[in-house]
Amino acid sequence: MSNTKMKSITTSAVQAGINTDKQHGAVVAPIHLSSTYSLKSFNEKREFDYSRTGNPTRATFAKTIAKLEQGQVGIATSTGMSSVLLICQLLSVDDLVVIPHDCYGGSFRLFTHLAKRGQFKLIVVDQNNKPALAEALAQKPKLVLIESPSNPLLRLVDIEEVANASHEVGALVAVDNTFLSPALQQPLTLGADIVFHSTTKYINGHSDVVGGVLVTKEQALGDELAWWANCIGITGSAFDSFLAVRGLKTLPIRMKQHQENAEQVAAFLKNHPAIESVYYPGFEDHPGHEIAKKQQAGFGAMLSFDVKGGVESVKRLFANLELFTLAQSLGGVESLICHPPTMTHAGMAETARLAAGITDSLVRVSVGIEDINDILADLAHGLEQSQTR
Ligand code: PLP
Repeated sequence: MSNTKMKSITTSAVQAGINTDKQHGAVVAPIHLSSTYSLKSFNEKREFDYSRTGNPTRATFAKTIAKLEQGQVGIATSTGMSSVLLICQLLSVDDLVVIPHDCYGGSFRLFTHLAKRGQFKLIVVDQNNKPALAEALAQKPKLVLIESPSNPLLRLVDIEEVANASHEVGALVAVDNTFLSPALQQPLTLGADIVFHSTTKYINGHSDVVGGVLVTKEQALGDELAWWANCIGITGSAFDSFLAVRGLKTLPIRMKQHQENAEQVAAFLKNHPAIESVYYPGFEDHPGHEIAKKQQAGFGAMLSFDVKGGVESVKRLFANLELFTLAQSLGGVESLICHPPTMTHAGMAETARLAAGITDSLVRVSVGIEDINDILADLAHGLEQSQTR
């Protein structure tokens, strides 16, 4: 068998940066903290000259993620939001952007506030509402943003279908792949031009980095965005890149365990008397189930649910959990729980939030890789207490 054959994602992840150190033969890619690099001689640069522009550790991370996403150019940024901001550099005042009505609250806030300041025009649309999407596309946007599954309601968008329709009107398509990671979904292979992540989540996976990454399908678009990343100074740090490479090595294997646990949590919640409804694409009756089967390699490990009894029940649930930590983020090895209306989506106006279906009784969980029996016991106790008065 040829060893140039495309390697599996598990192998490529584990092999990230292995044996790249030619000086000492370090097996693991070293961390290069130097902010600047010497020139060989007058006007004769090496591969790197200044760490904002390029850094060996960051390059290892960006190259690996580009490989996993099957793209050409990877750009590691300081946060997930700075990856979104980087994409905005492609837009001029007359350009139109289409975003989903239920995207991550921070992305929603950025796009709506930049549009308010006149930096571009914006249409917020439910991308599953076909006539509304067609109407938005008919206005010839420059950029269509997709987030699938969406945060926090796990709604799915058929990426291939929306990408094709967007390309027909000349739009670029960028997909937020934070909730699944390339281990479970590769949007560039479904027609997207750009895929991006908050690497704070599954990619790093240990809740000790805030970072972002963006990968383009085409070299030229990647070069343009890399130019802007250096220009506005939002490239990621060497230390965060080092940690992200380390996290990335176990990504496929972590995702496997995350998913196995999530499937059991979803089944447990589905019939629980304290639960009004559960949002999990793995359920056959979830509206996006068939899309998930088509474009994802698994159903992921994020789910959300409405607790009976409104926000007071939510408060009692949180007060009675021990294993779950009440915190904003997601995708770390530990189980986290949050209340989107007051936390992740607090930046959305109440009307927009309710229109997107984010009710006051909504709870989102990021299922960790702890022992499933401990996870279920904690939820069982918390939910029982949530219904007491
Ligand atoms: N996209 C999604 C889906 C997110 O959940 C988040 C953060 O929660 C972001 C983007 C922004 O990433 P960061 O917090 O790393 O800036």
